[in-house]
Amino acid sequence: MVEEVSDIKEGLSRVLPLISKKSSAIDKNNEMYSDVLQALFDNKLMSILAPKEYGGFESYYLACLVAESVAKINAGVAHSVVVHNATVDALRLFGTAEQKEKWLPKLKKKAGTLAMTEPSGGSDVSALKMEARKEGDVYILNGRKTLITNASFGGVFIVIAKTEEGLTAFITEKDGVVVTKLNQSGMRGSGLSSVGFSNVEVAKEDILGGLGKGLKVALGTLSPNRIPFAAMGLGIAETCLESAIKYAKGRTAFGKKVADFQGIQWMIAELATEIETLRSFIYNSAEIADGKESSLDVTTLGAMCKLKAAEIAKKAAEMAVEIYGGHGVIVGSPVERAYRDAKLLDIAEGTSEIMKVLISRTILGR
Ligand SMILES: Cc1cc2nc3c(=O)[nH]c(=O)nc-3n(C[C@H](O)[C@H](O)[C@H](O)COP(=O)(O)OP(=O)(O)OC[C@H]3O[C@@H](n4cnc5c(N)ncnc54)[C@H](O)[C@@H]3O)c2cc1C
Repeated sequence: MVEEVSDIKEGLSRVLPLISKKSSAIDKNNEMYSDVLQALFDNKLMSILAPKEYGGFESYYLACLVAESVAKINAGVAHSVVVHNATVDALRLFGTAEQKEKWLPKLKKKAGTLAMTEPSGGSDVSALKMEARKEGDVYILNGRKTLITNASFGGVFIVIAKTEEGLTAFITEKDGVVVTKLNQSGMRGSGLSSVGFSNVEVAKEDILGGLGKGLKVALGTLSPNRIPFAAMGLGIAETCLESAIKYAKGRTAFGKKVADFQGIQWMIAELATEIETLRSFIYNSAEIADGKESSLDVTTLGAMCKLKAAEIAKKAAEMAVEIYGGHGVIVGSPVERAYRDAKLLDIAEGTSEIMKVLISRTILGR
């Protein structure tokens, strides 16, 4: 693991300066630049959860390291990486040998997407409407997905649709799919889009996890991948803390530095403590997802990590804006973007309310 960590850190050290250079433009234009995407692929940051025989690392711990490090610079790019790695993970966890052989090489070049949410709702996965009709050896997909990360520049879609046997996961490329980019407030540049399927043909060999097993594929993939998603919140919170400390040490009010006021010191102390607690929780949960023993299952831990990370990232962004005063709300300040990004952690990959539903089910044994 030591060797793999240093391999990933080396890759990060090559990619992060490029992301940093383009970060404002990514946010301003809501655009993922092709050189950033290419650098992520070239430095293996998009293969973290791929099987080892496909050049991957199969490690949620490393996926967290990447998500945290990239989110410190740009949360939109980090979200693209997390969703791509989750798509690869779905193939690793549920794909047949033939499917891995067909799709994993494509996912070394094209970003992956997981398309579940529909315009009529995202939380209630069992109520999805999109249909896949069987015609001989193929399925015909009709319907609409929305709020799909990576869709505007991605090339491989895992789509959940209704078949006679229940919800089923299909893997398809972009051909015939109509993508409309959305203009979201935070995590910009992550290719968030609506996606229309009108008579899109998918071969029966491209059913992932078996007919009627779509919910198992979706939830089985999302559960462990909420841990790297939570690591994004850790990265956002760290940036907020670092920016707030720097600002408080430099800014003067009433003849002393803002950092000399006890009210500000307590905010910073509280936040630093929350961040350290979150870090331990996330990386311990990632080790459990990687196989370490635990009394709690990965679904519950993933939900807890995501719930807590969203809470701490929002708190960190709010405190940082508070410490910056008026300068904290000016577009272009590092904490203003974090304020917009942090809120989206509450919603993407399942809302905080749904995380509480999942956690309470385990804790209450229902
Ligand atoms: C930045 C971003 C990226 C995303 N990326 C993807 C992606 O790549 N793929 C994808 O498929 N989806 C994606 N989504 C969609 C996301 O998963 C959904 O927005 C989310 O699941 C909520 O669904 P909804 O927006 O339809 O809200 P709804 O399901 O309509 O919920 C509305 C409100 O009701 C609450 N609610 C619903 N049910 C309950 C309940 N049982 N108990 C308590 N409260 C409840 C919700 O918490 C929410 O507050 C993304 C969303 C965002 C913001």
